[in-house]
Amino acid sequence: MESDCIFCKIVAGQAPAARIFEDELCLAFLDINQATHGKTLVIPKAHYQDIRDTPDEDLAHLAKVTKAIIRHFESIGLAHDFQVFNTCGELGQQSVFHLHFHIMPRTADDGADYWLPRNPADAHGMQDLAAKLRMDRRI
Ligand SMILES: [Zn+2]
Repeated sequence: MESDCIFCKIVAGQAPAARIFEDELCLAFLDINQATHGKTLVIPKAHYQDIRDTPDEDLAHLAKVTKAIIRHFESIGLAHDFQVFNTCGELGQQSVFHLHFHIMPRTADDGADYWLPRNPADAHGMQDLAAKLRMDRRI
């Protein structure tokens, strides 16, 4: 546990949270910022700063739990569409440096607008960029 990490404090019960799911590896609770109704954060109980230092097994479990929560939200009629995202690093707009996945239920009248800027690229530029960024290794 990182003593100055608010999510570690929530895991340890030293800070309040509206918990909606918990198992031995992870915890899901309502985001204090309810950007949309039911916005939820899914975190590992162990402290990892972001996706880069999180073991693959933990990431796989978090993905499974995130999917299960979405299916649950859908089954209880909270929403049928969602945005699921993660932020990584300060310039990636990560605000709490304990890995977390956002589940944001979306409804027609939620008033949220999360479309990204559209920056069309010409096809030739895209191929050059892809050539620079291509990752030729097995994972
Ligand atoms: Zn932490």
